[in-house]
Amino acid sequence: MMETGGSSSVATKKATLTPKAIIYQKFGSEARYYIEEVQEPAEYGCPGLAIPHKGPSLYRCSLQLPGISVVSGTFKKKKDAEQSAAEMAIEKLGIQNSTNSLTQQEASDELVARVKYLFSNEFLPSLQPLSGHLRAALQREGDLNGLVPVSVMAICDSKLSNLCKFINPKVESNPFLVIPLIMRAAARLSGILATSEGQLWIRRQNPYPREIMESSISQPSGSPQSTLIEAVCIPCSSEKAVETVTLDVSSTGYYLDAISKKLGLTDAANVLVSRTVGKTSSETRLYFAAHQSCMLDLSSDPLTAKEAIHLEGPLNESLSKKGPLNERASYFSGHDIYGDAILASIGYTWKSKDLSYEDVSVQSYYRMLISKIPCGLYKLSREAVLMAELPLAFTTRTNWRGSYPRDILCTFCRQHRLSEPVFSTETTPIKAPSESPACGKKLRVTDSTEEEIEHEKGCARDTVARESAESAVTYQCGVKLFSKCQDLIVECFPKDSFKKQNDSIQNTSLKVLSWLNAYFRDLDMTPEKLNSTANSLEIRFCEKNFSKEFALCRSIHNVYQSETQGAKFLDENHISMPNTLPGQGVFSLNIDGPDSGVCPSNGCLLVISYSVSLVTESGYKKVLESSDEFEFEIGAGAVIPHLEAVVIQMSIGQSACFKMDMAPKEFVLAAAAVSARNLSLLSSKSCCLKYSLTLLRVTEPLEERMEQALFSPPLSKQRVEYAVKHIRESCATTLVDFGCGSGSLLDSLLNYPTTLEKIVGIDISQKSLSRAAKILHSKLSRNTDGNAPIACVKSTILYDGSVTDFDSRLCGFDIGTCLEVIEHMEEDQAFLFGDVALSSFRPKILIVSTPNYEYNVILQKANLSSQEEDPDEKTHIQSCKFRNHDHKFEWTREQFNCWATDLAAKYNYSVEFSGVGGSADIEPGFASQIAVFRRTSPPDEDEHLKDTDSAHHYKVIWEWNRPSTYSS
Ligand code: SAH
Ligand code: MG
Repeated sequence: MMETGGSSSVATKKATLTPKAIIYQKFGSEARYYIEEVQEPAEYGCPGLAIPHKGPSLYRCSLQLPGISVVSGTFKKKKDAEQSAAEMAIEKLGIQNSTNSLTQQEASDELVARVKYLFSNEFLPSLQPLSGHLRAALQREGDLNGLVPVSVMAICDSKLSNLCKFINPKVESNPFLVIPLIMRAAARLSGILATSEGQLWIRRQNPYPREIMESSISQPSGSPQSTLIEAVCIPCSSEKAVETVTLDVSSTGYYLDAISKKLGLTDAANVLVSRTVGKTSSETRLYFAAHQSCMLDLSSDPLTAKEAIHLEGPLNESLSKKGPLNERASYFSGHDIYGDAILASIGYTWKSKDLSYEDVSVQSYYRMLISKIPCGLYKLSREAVLMAELPLAFTTRTNWRGSYPRDILCTFCRQHRLSEPVFSTETTPIKAPSESPACGKKLRVTDSTEEEIEHEKGCARDTVARESAESAVTYQCGVKLFSKCQDLIVECFPKDSFKKQNDSIQNTSLKVLSWLNAYFRDLDMTPEKLNSTANSLEIRFCEKNFSKEFALCRSIHNVYQSETQGAKFLDENHISMPNTLPGQGVFSLNIDGPDSGVCPSNGCLLVISYSVSLVTESGYKKVLESSDEFEFEIGAGAVIPHLEAVVIQMSIGQSACFKMDMAPKEFVLAAAAVSARNLSLLSSKSCCLKYSLTLLRVTEPLEERMEQALFSPPLSKQRVEYAVKHIRESCATTLVDFGCGSGSLLDSLLNYPTTLEKIVGIDISQKSLSRAAKILHSKLSRNTDGNAPIACVKSTILYDGSVTDFDSRLCGFDIGTCLEVIEHMEEDQAFLFGDVALSSFRPKILIVSTPNYEYNVILQKANLSSQEEDPDEKTHIQSCKFRNHDHKFEWTREQFNCWATDLAAKYNYSVEFSGVGGSADIEPGFASQIAVFRRTSPPDEDEHLKDTDSAHHYKVIWEWNRPSTYSS
């Protein structure tokens, strides 16, 4: 059953709709189909015989719709009965299909009219793909002059094939059924058009008038030139390699003649042309010989039988015998192709009278081949065939590189001629936050570019509405894949829910892609294994429909298996060598350059430069793929595992070099812009791949992501909430946020009623400050918009400066905050800050937070557990890295205690320790440790500190004052 209430469908648009689909669109689940089995009386029954003689089983379908019901005729297949009933209902209801619906007779008549038009004087000079063929055919010499192969008519004029679909709906799955229909239409035009029995061409009976000929066919000046066009031959036998062929097309010749010659055919009329393959925009098609049984198949069709019969005899002679199935070509085109096939990108277009063409190389062939696999599609979208991998996880949209999972899934379905995936998302309300409505607002994190843009647009109120709506529900997404006949193949309904609808769609898509990818990686997978893989990804599939749709894949994508064997072979050879990564197929690993200490960890975005070359023992080297800047998320499986295993051992600035067993041939050839001949060494086994890379940058701290993943609410939010609580309790009127960053604390403060009148932020990062300014501006201007302000803040200032420098304007504030800042300075600077803050600024209260180093073990473990399962591995406790590459240090509880206690004692403050994330009593304490300093000296002693010496070292970046008219 289809989805019911509470869900919405995404991407249900289909190219052509079956009658059932049209009924579904109109009536949804209110349409009920009842199948009845009917027994046909046995044809050769014996009257009077006591033993019942069973005839074949047939089905009849009755379709009940609100108000009407119809009963179909009988069919061999239940499916056909249903479609027929649906069709009857559509007719009865007078529902028009998007393209005007025609009866068979009307369509036949229109088809005849269309064919007539295509051979009219008027059509020849027009700019249409088919007229190009007509003109080229008219330039042929001798017997062939003016003969147009029917197969090009079928592919060039979409109106023809659309009309044919009304006459015979099977055209949808077998486009060559158009040919006899066109032939029949031509036969009805016998005075105007000429056909020949058993020949698949049509020509005009009478020549075109001279002026039409002269105006439409430009006579070439001088001797005809010849153009060499590269194409690819896909031999019928899968044993034989795909090779380049060169088509020699003369400026006066007809390209189909060149192709028929390559196929060893006498006549271009015997060439069949497939629909376009690969990119929809291209004219890449497969060309192959028409054969007898192909025509026999046509004649056995009940609708065309009468007309086709007369074609049978002579055709048998002129057409070749049906050879074995060309599996590779059939796989590409989606219909059966026998014998050798030529893959070429050539033809006439709507744009120009000239023949347009593009070279098709062996590389293009392999690119098309791997684009049939989910990971291949991803690799191509990243332009890193030998480097990228389909990631295992969709973490955040900002971290994703390459095509999105949903788009890959849609392309995959198109490539395999399935219906568009049907997504359904469900929303579940989550409990509203218990405090004031404003506190449900999401914190803005630094990478929220989208939100910034919206702020800039000034649609602040909408943003709030959207955010509160977003935080009030979670999304779950399911997806179903159907065949073109609407048979369910795969469905995936994960339990995970997401705050964003897009995230739920992408994650569900990725699950399905991962499963399909696993299948393509191991096509010999037992049904049990396929099933358990599906289960683990919350996928269910219909084995019968699945294997029907993917039957050919098994014989085409057989490369992975041989690759795994290769890996084993090399593993055994190299396992004892130094510089290997056991189990990874990596050897001769070398990491060069000084260790900068800045290392990637899971969740980071890395930028590398790399090149992959093919090398042989004899010293031959050929670069297959390279990039100066390639960015990917570490830990998501976004690159080949070999590379990820290497790169996590590197630090910024270092280079690495390693060798690896050959990748599957398909991928190597898809990556290599080198001719196949050059790469014949591939099969010689004496070569391997050499990867060279340099780690250029590690972007985006993982800290934030980790804190979000492991703590609920996220640690950063807990910190801010902690500070807000103290600020509200303190009844402070002035606040300074040291190292305010993008202003997350200041922004949150404006959501609460506080006694604060003046708030100030200071930071050394101009980028963060401008982000903070935008956020605060939008929030504050909204408050004056006529709505009662939540906070009664009268002025806000952002300063550019270092918190280790003194500025008299920050003296004697009621409260100072410094959240997760000191670890971003060198240790001595952190000490200096403590001195400046407590000796010179002297706020009544100072709240300082910083990571607790001892807690990292837990973060690290949680982070690694997904990929590493070695409990004895103690090393990563020692090698425990800081949480963020920008951290200069991280202190243990003891170190922090010393720093704070000494400071407090020195400057007449008391200090209390606390924290957020975890607990004080459970080892290893809080994730973020916090010290709250309180001034103990009497207030009058500090009076002299107020902006006396006017030392102004900070630069005002942004200032806001409440309009005076508004003040109470
Ligand atoms: N307090 C913010 C930002 C923490 S990130 C929050 O909790 O979200 C650390 C910030 O400290 C960065 O924005 C960085 O620019 C700033 N910072 C580092 N050293 C600084 C210094 N010497 N003076 C002022 N700001 C500094
Ligand atoms: Mg930090």
